[in-house]
Amino acid sequence: MVNRETPIEISKEEFKKTGYQLIDTVAEFFDTIKTKPVTTGESPKHLQAILGNASLPEDGESPEEILSTASRLLLNHSLLNGHPKFFGYITSSPAPIGALADLLAAAVNPNVGANILSPMATEIEKQIIKWLAEFIGVNANYGGVLVSGGNMANFTAFLAGRTAKAPKNLKQNGINTTDKLVVYCAKTTHTWIEKAVVLFGMGTNAIRWIETDASNKINIEALEQTIKEDLKNEYKPIMVVGNAGDVSTGAVDDLTSIAVVCKKYDLWFHVDGAYGIPAAVIPGLKNLFEGIEEADSIALDPHKWLYSPLEAGCTLVKDPNHLIETYSSHPVYYNFSNDEPSTQNFYEYGLQNSRGFRALKVWMILQQVGRNGYIKMIGEDIRLSKLLFKLAEENPELEAITQNLSITTLRYAPQNYYNTENRETYLNKLNEALLNNSQQGGEVFLSNAVVNEKYCLRSCIVNFRTSEKDIQEVIEIIVREGRKVHNQLQHQTTVHK
Ligand SMILES: *Cc1c(COP(=O)(O)O)cnc(C)c1O
Repeated sequence: MVNRETPIEISKEEFKKTGYQLIDTVAEFFDTIKTKPVTTGESPKHLQAILGNASLPEDGESPEEILSTASRLLLNHSLLNGHPKFFGYITSSPAPIGALADLLAAAVNPNVGANILSPMATEIEKQIIKWLAEFIGVNANYGGVLVSGGNMANFTAFLAGRTAKAPKNLKQNGINTTDKLVVYCAKTTHTWIEKAVVLFGMGTNAIRWIETDASNKINIEALEQTIKEDLKNEYKPIMVVGNAGDVSTGAVDDLTSIAVVCKKYDLWFHVDGAYGIPAAVIPGLKNLFEGIEEADSIALDPHKWLYSPLEAGCTLVKDPNHLIETYSSHPVYYNFSNDEPSTQNFYEYGLQNSRGFRALKVWMILQQVGRNGYIKMIGEDIRLSKLLFKLAEENPELEAITQNLSITTLRYAPQNYYNTENRETYLNKLNEALLNNSQQGGEVFLSNAVVNEKYCLRSCIVNFRTSEKDIQEVIEIIVREGRKVHNQLQHQTTVHK
């Protein structure tokens, strides 16, 4: 027999039939996403009942049946971050072309760990990394690697920076707490930094959390003061992390001043731009990100403001040799010669060995949209976020708290309430309940932020489907639901008295 009979192969005819059906289903899904609830709010228990608790199948089923079941489960019982009123955390509406890209990438299945296993895919990843550097306005000589997301992008850079700045050969000698290595970041820095020091043997005492100023940016004087004290006490400062869009309020640190401090004390300058740095593409915002070109490393997330489907993060390093110095090893069983200078083996640039072709979707999306398309979309997200802030400011029942990039924080604050509690305590309780209610309700999806001890509703617009009308409706929903929750809480208080 020429063709082996296997339960996994799909014939050309069946692949076409099933594949076309799936494409029809997905096209319909994208077309009607606006009309669906953002989330169904179903409980895990309910979902388990729908999924059923069958055990591992002994024999296989037809692809057609499996795909139709999977489509039904996912399309009817998911949170839809492609919905125009999804504003939670920092998860974007995914570009439809990304879905097609993932299909193509999985079909070819290049292993982008080694050049020899992924000849064209490696070149495409190299190109997209160059484009991302150009996109954010740093020198196209920055090199790097695509990773699964912001945490991994920050880790990848963190380890390279630590290897570069540690006063001893960490690769050979490992790390000890007696090395007294310390890193600096604003207290608003994303939780990845804690994971990094825990995982990479430094412990949480190695983080110096620096105060922020009134606009939520790192306080440069406090930063320098802390470094000086540490040096006096024989600590070994190695790195400062600057935020280009902090996760709670979108504040961008004064990157130029951080760069000056890093130069003065010979520290690695890492910028966490996982969310915010793509906004540097907007000519009018160049100033805000000034100093980025001084960064030794930068983390950014195509799966956030470049609207790539999950997962796609990226580490950029000014001198990519720092990645190779950290991650390269040459086992005898790898015949991946580096003889040709332009050969690049991505396994030497980060933590992964076998690597998927996540570059393809990012590469395709950037071509579909182009620089001008992004200027328009990112600009519109920011404009809508500012509109939300303004409408909240104008509404007597709402308080607008912060607005940076495309993140707005606000809260429901009724004028009259009968309560013996402190007003701030009450408002925190009220807004937390309001957020929980609204996340279940399915009309809109917001997340929360605590800003100067105020519990806020937080909207982050990285969503090319959101319109002005959605923003107006969100205000109405918040006020309507806020009144409801307020009435309930008031009722509870009076009943219990
Ligand atoms: C989202 C985010 C991260 C984490 O990125 P993931 O893609 O969720 O791993 C880190 N830092 C900042 C500033 C972020 O916005």
